[in-house]
Amino acid sequence: TVTDTPVRRYGGLKDQDRIFTNAYCRHDHGIKGAQSRGDWHKTKDILLKGDAWIIQTIKDSGLRGRGGAGFPSGLKWSFMNKPNWQADPRPRYLVINADEGEPGTCKDREILRGDPHKLIEGCLVAGRAMNASAAYIYIRGEFYQEASHVQQAINEAYAAGFLGKNACGSGYDFDVYVHRGAGAYICGEETALIESIEGKQGKPRLKPPFPADVGLFGCPTTVANVETVAVAPTICRRGSACGHVNNPCVVEEEMSIPLKELIERHCGGVRGGWDNLLGIIPGGSSVPVIPKDVCAEVLMDYDSLKDAQTGLGTGAVIVMDKSTDIVSAIARFADFYKHESCGQCTPCREGTTWMKKTMDRMVEGRAHEREMLLEWYSVSTA
Ligand code: NAD
Repeated sequence: TVTDTPVRRYGGLKDQDRIFTNAYCRHDHGIKGAQSRGDWHKTKDILLKGDAWIIQTIKDSGLRGRGGAGFPSGLKWSFMNKPNWQADPRPRYLVINADEGEPGTCKDREILRGDPHKLIEGCLVAGRAMNASAAYIYIRGEFYQEASHVQQAINEAYAAGFLGKNACGSGYDFDVYVHRGAGAYICGEETALIESIEGKQGKPRLKPPFPADVGLFGCPTTVANVETVAVAPTICRRGSACGHVNNPCVVEEEMSIPLKELIERHCGGVRGGWDNLLGIIPGGSSVPVIPKDVCAEVLMDYDSLKDAQTGLGTGAVIVMDKSTDIVSAIARFADFYKHESCGQCTPCREGTTWMKKTMDRMVEGRAHEREMLLEWYSVSTA
């Protein structure tokens, strides 16, 4: 499973997709600047989704440790939540390895200096994922300005209610501490780093046991690199997958552009090529899905799509490649409409609930052979 990461096609990173937008510290590294760059946006929502959701999102994203070893991050974080972990009375820790010392390497330095809030928010999100109560950021001794910026970010985050008791209003308590190293390369090795925080000489321990079993102060610990943790909130906000076209985008186009041309000209084509297409919803989730052969012919206008037994709707094109479980996808839409029903009118209030239950049975393989959504449609509108 270590190599089981999603296959990505190189497409070139666009400016709007960049995560670290304050390299060289050209803008405000403080909390106002950070928030204007998207940090601390709806962090509470991420925390409330819980440990399993965060870890699964990180696993799905294919994120791997950026300190050099490239160990799959979601897998590593999951080692902290072994079955029955709640029965273990020991506190649990996240340790950030900011002892960047590999010759030629100076990328974490830029994050610590220009985007320290990304790291602090990342500590909170990663900490929640592994049910840790605190993070220790171990910063190499030579990084004086960087340590000051990180400490400033921590102070600002506490003052804003993002850290400490009930962090971000999530009901979860989390503290972050800075520990400054003294400039020894070996302290970047995770167990030597742990020894150093404990006040001992920075000398490595034997592994196993790995830190998730016996780490800082003898407690379950994950040691993770600065960049790895700093990208976690953005991954959680954006979602782990990048969509089923190579370049998801919003474009203005002429009415009646062929659907296939729209996807190939503006979106870089279907992920894995046109042959990998399963079907498309051409106008938001209120119009029916059309299969691949129809997608190849149809024009993006009211009449052409009506002839294809769907509609232009909002013009929001949802592309689904062959990896899509179409029944689960439709079930998610059903769940959305049930959740959003205001409950005023009976057909919607009862119908969406019925529809969701039917779809859930289909997803779980419990649906009756003759069970059809049309049956309840006729009942609910009678
Ligand atoms: P590693 O492969 O031994 O471990 C990587 C991470 O995965 C560790 O956190 C480890 O605990 C975890 N892990 C690995 N196997 C595990 C298992 N079976 N169970 C549970 N956890 C497991 O590598 P390492 O010694 O941590 O790092 C070596 C790399 O560090 C080198 O490739 C080098 O590039 C890099 N490095 C970076 C810097 C820097 O400044 N960024 C400095 C020195 C070295």
